Amino acid sequence: MAKPADTRTAGRKPMAKATRSVAETEKIRAALAARRDELRSEYDQTLSEITELQRDRLTDSAGDDQADTGTKTFEREQEISLANSIRERITQVERALERLDEGGYGWCERCGDPIPVERLAAFPSATLCVKCKQLEERR
Ligand SMILES: [Zn+2]
Repeated sequence: MAKPADTRTAGRKPMAKATRSVAETEKIRAALAARRDELRSEYDQTLSEITELQRDRLTDSAGDDQADTGTKTFEREQEISLANSIRERITQVERALERLDEGGYGWCERCGDPIPVERLAAFPSATLCVKCKQLEERR
C-alpha cells in the first residue's frame, strides 16, 4: 500500500480528490458513531415493542374477534418492517465508517467534491453533494 500522506499534491490540480483534514474526518467519524448509537437504541426500542405486541397477542387474543387479530398482526408487521429498515440504516452507517477509514467515504460521486460534514451526519448514505443532488432531482 502506498503511503497516502505523501501523495498530497499542493499546487497541482488534483485529478483525484482533495484531501480532507484529519479534524474533519474525525468530525465525520464522531457524527457517524453518534448516528449509529442513536439508531441502535431506536432499534432496541422497536424490538421491545415487537416483543410487547407479541405478548399481547398471546395473552389476550382469546376474546379477540378476527378484526382485532388482524389489526394486531398488522401493527406487528409494521414494527417488524420498521425494525428492518433501522437495521439497514445501521448497516449503512457501519459501512460508511469502514469506508471512512479507507478514505473512500464522503466524496461526491459526480463532481468529486467533499460532501459537507453536516450533510453526512444527517444522511450517512449520501453519495452526492447538495449541488449535484439538486441537479439530479431537477431532472
Ligand atoms: Zn457534487
